[in-house]
Amino acid sequence: MPSAFTHIFVGGALGKTFTAEKMPAKFWVLAAVCSIIPDIDIIGFYFGVKYGSMLGHRGFFHSLTFALIVSLLVVLLAYPAIPRFSKKWWSLLAFFFIVTVSHGFLDAMTDKGMGIGFFIPFDNTRYFLPWRPVYASPMSIARFFSHAGIEVLMREILWIWLPSIALCAVASVFRKKLRS
Ligand SMILES: [Zn+2]
Repeated sequence: MPSAFTHIFVGGALGKTFTAEKMPAKFWVLAAVCSIIPDIDIIGFYFGVKYGSMLGHRGFFHSLTFALIVSLLVVLLAYPAIPRFSKKWWSLLAFFFIVTVSHGFLDAMTDKGMGIGFFIPFDNTRYFLPWRPVYASPMSIARFFSHAGIEVLMREILWIWLPSIALCAVASVFRKKLRS
């Protein structure tokens, strides 16, 4: 996986792309949680779940179906006051869905491990993007801050952080154009 920082950074950048409004802390905390929640499947390793199985790492919990479940739960539980199926409701649902799915896409850009089971439970195939410039992040904190860890981070900044900032900038220019 790219580092957790990078997943959260992308969640934040998507938030800034989604809206120019000043959002409450709850919104940002939920975006951060959604950006990293798919890695909850790492717990499976400790219970002997096989990497390549449906419930293995980068399997179901990295799928579009799981992202839909998560985003529905977020909108239903964290935003009960927003009328269901209203425009605001759908846009929040879409936002949290995209943030959760972004995790799998970033993982699919890494050079190691197994691909992502985007279509589980309908199709157990694991997918990578055709272009994988990101190095898999060392799992341990000590190794993360080592020399290799710095290189991992530099690649993430170049290929993920900078394009994310560019996305926010484009969205803000676009918004200004729409307003004027
Ligand atoms: Zn992951």
